[in-house]
Amino acid sequence: MDQVDPRRLIPRTDELLALPAVRGARERLSERVLRELIRQTQEQARRGELPPAQVESALLAAVAARTATTLHPVLNATGVVIHTNLGRAPLSAGAVAALVTASGYVDVELDLETGSRSRRGAGARAALLAACPAAEDALVVNNGAAALVLATTALAAGREVVVSRGELVEIGAGFRLPDLIESTGATLHEVGTTNRTHLRDYASALGPATGCVLKVHPSNFRVDGFTSAVSLAELSPLTTAHEVPLVADLGSGLLAPDPHLPQEPDAATALANGADVVIASGDKLLGGPQAGLLLGRADIIARLARHPLARAVRADKLALAALEATLAGEPPPVVQALHADLERLRSRTDRLAGALGVPVLPHDGRVGGGGAPGVPLPGWALQLPEGVAGPLRTGDPAVLPRVHDGSCLLDLRCIPEGDDERVLDAVRRALATLNGAGSGRAG
Ligand SMILES: *Cc1c(COP(=O)(O)O)cnc(C)c1O
Repeated sequence: MDQVDPRRLIPRTDELLALPAVRGARERLSERVLRELIRQTQEQARRGELPPAQVESALLAAVAARTATTLHPVLNATGVVIHTNLGRAPLSAGAVAALVTASGYVDVELDLETGSRSRRGAGARAALLAACPAAEDALVVNNGAAALVLATTALAAGREVVVSRGELVEIGAGFRLPDLIESTGATLHEVGTTNRTHLRDYASALGPATGCVLKVHPSNFRVDGFTSAVSLAELSPLTTAHEVPLVADLGSGLLAPDPHLPQEPDAATALANGADVVIASGDKLLGGPQAGLLLGRADIIARLARHPLARAVRADKLALAALEATLAGEPPPVVQALHADLERLRSRTDRLAGALGVPVLPHDGRVGGGGAPGVPLPGWALQLPEGVAGPLRTGDPAVLPRVHDGSCLLDLRCIPEGDDERVLDAVRRALATLNGAGSGRAG
């Protein structure tokens, strides 16, 4: 009997391209990407790994799984509010809507009344000044590091940045403040010692070579014991007398004091205490998009805005739109997570624990992102076997737990209440995978 070569039964490329589901994916995936998925599926069948009759369904599954971005949304069950590896601050609904608006042509640098060019990001600037009236002017750049580079370059390139040895910190992987400042062509003039710096140290350092004095909030570490530092209020008369700008890098991005985070510096207080310019990030405690904020004296902000480097570090329209909407809208997710109602958190945790039949443990969340290192955020966690952490991460939706002391802990603080059911389903699936009854995305 003649046997038909099964490879001849593999559907042809044009047939597969014409399938409604494949054509429907055109909006998301280019023809090149679709042809590649088809080629891979046909190849599997040619190698005998896939029966020809299943090519079509395998292709449809591959097309459905192929999203336009390879980034996966993650439910953050770590209790770490500003999680750098998860992209720091999740945006508010208002900020997301603003991003979508800004994704097309928008009047980011155009006055629609006159038809002429306007100041870029005027809306974000106005929103910042409304939120921080102590600032005379504001400039938004790409991120906090860019703000620091711009300030030190414009104020001190070829001259000195006077800074305390106790503040020359490494903030995150690859971000060492001294290296960053020296890369701008400014010379660091270090004063004091790691644990103690006095006003007289600054006084003897100031001179004709001084470009600016920099105070840095050492966000992610603390020196305890025999320490002393000079406050902005103490420094300000000295820098004013020398007519040298006093720059404060706050990092965190609080614009006004937050009673929950009493140790955390804020822009309004720093400016009131005599800082000429403050620097902060948009995606830390402010809860907005990645951005670097420069707030302070109008003449200095104007000098920074005029510097050629300002063009290289300018904020994109999406960030400007999201920042403005974050400042104008409801408290963003970061602020909600920091101020989570503890009874509500407890009852949500208990409900999921009851449904899953697992214990609840006290668990401290953290601010993260280099902010408020010593501040625990008390709460609770579901305790699961350590082995579910992997299936949870690779499941759909992906859930990132905290693995600690041989357990997989789920802290609901950073998860919107509306996602509790999805967490429950994800845990059930992950537990089933662990027991060999199912498979996650990676499976
Ligand atoms: C986080 C931080 C920065 C860097 O800001 P990015 O927005 O991450 O570039 C700079 N200085 C301090 C004190 C910080 O905490």
